[in-house]
Amino acid sequence: MSKILAIGEVLVEIVATERGNGFREPVPLIGPFPSGAPAIFIDQVGKLGQDCAIISRVGDDDFGHVNLDRLKRDGVDISGIEIVPQGTTGSAFVRYREDGSRAFVFNIRHSACGTIELSPDALGLIDTCTHLHVMGSALYAPSIVTSILTAVKRIKGRGGTVSFDPNIRPEILDSPGMRDALKTVLAQTDLFLPSGAELMLFTEARTEEAAVAELLATGIRAIVVKRGASGASYFDPETSLTLPGFKVEEVDPTGAGDCFGATFVTFWLAGSDPREALAYANASGARAVTMVGPMEGASTRAELDALIASQRS
Ligand code: ADP
Repeated sequence: MSKILAIGEVLVEIVATERGNGFREPVPLIGPFPSGAPAIFIDQVGKLGQDCAIISRVGDDDFGHVNLDRLKRDGVDISGIEIVPQGTTGSAFVRYREDGSRAFVFNIRHSACGTIELSPDALGLIDTCTHLHVMGSALYAPSIVTSILTAVKRIKGRGGTVSFDPNIRPEILDSPGMRDALKTVLAQTDLFLPSGAELMLFTEARTEEAAVAELLATGIRAIVVKRGASGASYFDPETSLTLPGFKVEEVDPTGAGDCFGATFVTFWLAGSDPREALAYANASGARAVTMVGPMEGASTRAELDALIASQRS
């Protein structure tokens, strides 16, 4: 049976309760919510009952323990999360603008998760995993880039697979080495999960169709394009498939892409056909947006089945 690994930021998210342009004026906040794209991803994998683990660092503080408790409760192997005695757990402050886009203030690089390195125990954990999911947003510090590239090499070297969600955050895009690391990871990717806009950043192609063809020709086995409320598309050399999104009331879109990706990867690794994997991933992304807090809308298999059954025509 496969075991899925994620590496990267574990942090808390604090959300502004009123829309606006940022944090230059006082605004009511709620949180802390357990968060970090790799953490949300792996929590959703764990909730589906799939064997999984995460490598990260947190401080020995309440923000760290909020995450450790949640991930453990949801079935994630947290033995790869080091508690840094004098460290502080990372945080992200999020405020929705009027147009629905998000303003972030990240405290990652100078927090515990900014110091992730692979200990001998972490290397041992990597060798128990058969699949690595890489989040582009995790490539925010040279030591993490090195850790992720080491994991890619070890897992692929043992016949494992890699999925990659660029999850590009302009706020952290300019970290040293990030652009090169994105390309290096893409070259090792089996399953690529960009948004429509991100897909177009990775080739010179002018149309989505041409971009997909170009990337599949490099050896990527499948591409899944996330399209927000409109659903998602799947492409491999033989298949091209688009499924609409589920109709839900969107309360907080943060985490939708991570839950979507986690569900797609879990079903894909289990050998589901693309239509089934895409339907479950769409259901997972849809449920994620119905709850405030990035990880709060992660779903069990029964919850996904219920949403799918409720909207079957
Ligand atoms: P990201 O969070 O990476 O930007 P998206 O916003 O495209 O990704 O969301 C990922 C997936 O979650 C979508 O492909 C879709 O399946 C689902 N989703 C997102 N927003 C909604 C919504 N408002 N209604 C229904 N499904 C949604």
